Amino acid sequence: MKDTKRDGINMQENLCPCCQNPLVWDGRYHCAQCKHHFNKIGFCPECDSELEKLQACGAANFFCNSCNELKSKSKIRFEFQAQD
Ligand SMILES: [Zn+2]
Ligand SMILES: [Zn+2]
Repeated sequence: MKDTKRDGINMQENLCPCCQNPLVWDGRYHCAQCKHHFNKIGFCPECDSELEKLQACGAANFFCNSCNELKSKSKIRFEFQAQD
C-alpha cells in the first residue's frame, strides 16, 4: 500500500528545474513556460554515477555501470537536464 502511494507521488514530481512548472510529456519532457526540452537523468544513490536506462517489457530499469547492478527506482535521485 505504501509503495503504491509513493509511486503516485513520484509520477507527479516532474517539475521544471528553472521555474518549477509541471513538465509536459511530448516524447520528451517539455516546459511550456521556458520552452525547453529536458532529459530525465537518474543518478546512483551509492556512487553518484549517471545511470543507464534499460527498457524491458515496457518497464524502465536503471543500471549503474560502476556498481554493476540494477538500482531501485525509489532510491534514485533524478535530475532534469536541458536539451535545447
Ligand atoms: Zn520552466
Ligand atoms: Zn553506482
